Amino acid sequence: MAKDYIDNPAALKIDLMLRGLRIDDPLVKAWACGVDGIDIMLPHNTLVNIPCREEFTKGSPYTIRKKDGGYVIGGHSSEVAVSLVPKPKFYERKTSTGIPFAKIASVHGGVTSITPSPRCDFFNANVECKYCAGNLDVKGMDKTVYSVDDVVETVAAVLADGIRGIIYLSTGFSDEPDGGIVFLKPYLQAIKNKFHCLVAVETLPPKENRWIDETYALGADSVLYNLEIYDKELFELICPGRAASIGRKRYMSALEYAARIFPSGTVASHLIVGLEPPGSTIMGVDCLVNMGVVPILPIYRPGHGKALRIDPLTAEIILPVYKHLYKAVKKSNISLNWVKDLSMVTTPAEMRAIVDKTASNGSLIEGFYKSKIGRKAAWGLSSLMRKLRVKKSEEDE
Ligand code: SF4
Repeated sequence: MAKDYIDNPAALKIDLMLRGLRIDDPLVKAWACGVDGIDIMLPHNTLVNIPCREEFTKGSPYTIRKKDGGYVIGGHSSEVAVSLVPKPKFYERKTSTGIPFAKIASVHGGVTSITPSPRCDFFNANVECKYCAGNLDVKGMDKTVYSVDDVVETVAAVLADGIRGIIYLSTGFSDEPDGGIVFLKPYLQAIKNKFHCLVAVETLPPKENRWIDETYALGADSVLYNLEIYDKELFELICPGRAASIGRKRYMSALEYAARIFPSGTVASHLIVGLEPPGSTIMGVDCLVNMGVVPILPIYRPGHGKALRIDPLTAEIILPVYKHLYKAVKKSNISLNWVKDLSMVTTPAEMRAIVDKTASNGSLIEGFYKSKIGRKAAWGLSSLMRKLRVKKSEEDE
């Protein structure tokens, strides 16, 4: 019987993301209905999004049930008190043009994701990433493009609900040299003009570095170019479109350049755990950290017909990868203020509880942006850095 990790919130988070949760309680079932995993707060403010509908979750040792007016997650022999994260109120409402806000934005912890258009041209050419199960249109037929006004209204609703953190603006692939930043530009500008909030953009690496300068000058606080798979051959195999149209080399050079432009800790790249051997992910972590890029390690969730996950994959196998991530980032002095309050992935900071035995028992993720001073400090730093950078570009020209 595989062990459970009920007693260690950080390890439990990883194991829950890996194995999922069985839900028998009808109330929790209704709560989780229609969502992309269920957001649950574990002890020590450890936020996790747990898969609960996929086939593989049926074999999970973890169940949730009501106890003493609250909820507990149980493993093989013990259980731990948890709480369900309330769904944002704005999910129930619509934009003035009648679009449900929940279609435009999804919130998981400190991350609000907005994808203004579900298109990705890789689908049209049948070269989509093999794991792709995101919120994008898998048949390439959906021509929906949410207007800037709809997106701005949505951000207003998010902020009015008291949801803080970072707004992630993302887009799929289009064969433009800018990587998608030109498409996102009006959304980014409108949000930055109207609200005092942090915005990250998630695009494909542009062909030329000047678009990275442009991304920064437009006001993006953070940028993500997600390599997803470090191993060269697996990258080509699993991401044929990315490999042919962009290439692994360009991912690296774009990330390296971005890390020189953006403030420390604000350039990140996903490496999906479970799509390549752990040793390969570890090499990817080292490579990114050496460039000043924060590796973010989501765990692959096999969906129907997408059973790409390497086998076997257990917490025992992948915990060393996360431990390595923590140690590598800590050694590098990359700022971690930007990568936190994430339910969908494990952040380097959360691994402190596993690696550093002297870590305090307080919140595993410092509530930096929840504190007034933290918000002010981050905002000031990124604005100042941008101004300096834009000024320098103008002088160079
Ligand atoms: S780039 Fe890959 S992962 Fe992203 S939307 Fe397109 S196919 Fe999916």
